[in-house]
Amino acid sequence: MLKSVSAERLAIGSIAVSLLVLGLKLLAWWVTGSVALYSDALESLVNVGGAALALVAVWYAQLPADSGHPYGHHKAEYFSAVAEGIMIVVAALLIVHQALEVLWAPDLSDLGPLGLLVNGAAMLINLGWARVLIVWARRHHSPALAASGRHLMSDVWTSVGVLGGLIVALLTGWAVLDPVLAIIVALNILREGVVVISSSVGGLMDSAAEPGEQKQIETIIHKAANGALQIHDIRTRRAGQALFVEFHMVVSGAMTVAASHEICDRIEAALQAEISGIHATIHVEPDNKLEPVGINPS
Ligand SMILES: [Zn+2]
Ligand SMILES: [Zn+2]
Repeated sequence: MLKSVSAERLAIGSIAVSLLVLGLKLLAWWVTGSVALYSDALESLVNVGGAALALVAVWYAQLPADSGHPYGHHKAEYFSAVAEGIMIVVAALLIVHQALEVLWAPDLSDLGPLGLLVNGAAMLINLGWARVLIVWARRHHSPALAASGRHLMSDVWTSVGVLGGLIVALLTGWAVLDPVLAIIVALNILREGVVVISSSVGGLMDSAAEPGEQKQIETIIHKAANGALQIHDIRTRRAGQALFVEFHMVVSGAMTVAASHEICDRIEAALQAEISGIHATIHVEPDNKLEPVGINPS
């Protein structure tokens, strides 16, 4: 049955599941007044927001280039990830604020089995959905869904920690465990946010292709550029699924435009055949522009 479901459907399913889980966790917080359960609920809120943002971003990023965005819309993915990171950090600060307020006068008089059961049910739903995502992602080689499955699993562990801690608090009467757990959850969320932000800022800053990819590009050019004298000034930049590469190609000054263009087309085709999403721009130069260092095609 899993096989027939598409990635988009699963992404929408993720949002539906996280809304349900969020509702249950808010209910558990409302029944108990526990800051630890509040922190768990805020973590879910961030998940709902993040999943919705990601869905919009993935849809927008794959729109074809148009006159307003002639290089395509790929960077929308980074933008949504940075926005998600900021949301995560705000959630963590809200939790810390709330926890510090009750730290010196913790009160768990409303904490009872009902709130814990409701939160536990939410945790089990998350666990089940995480398994669905992970199994599906493995079968279909989807890194994005594998990542959200793993993220959901880390939320399950957070909930297990919170529930375990609250059960101890309930049994021993150590109410201070409640704000302490909330702060631990907040720190964990904060760590998540920093990872999300730092991995996306690189893309917004036009970072170069991975070193392995750069090597691969050089090898392909070396093989495909015969007829040219030299290739130099290769620059790459990654934009989500797209990879842009530019370089100078030196040919004999006597070569016709048609002949040099043919070499360009050959290199572009060779790059596109081996690297998905690559766009090449080639600047042709006569032989007085040879540089001391460059790729010299055989
Ligand atoms: Zn546009
Ligand atoms: Zn040059």
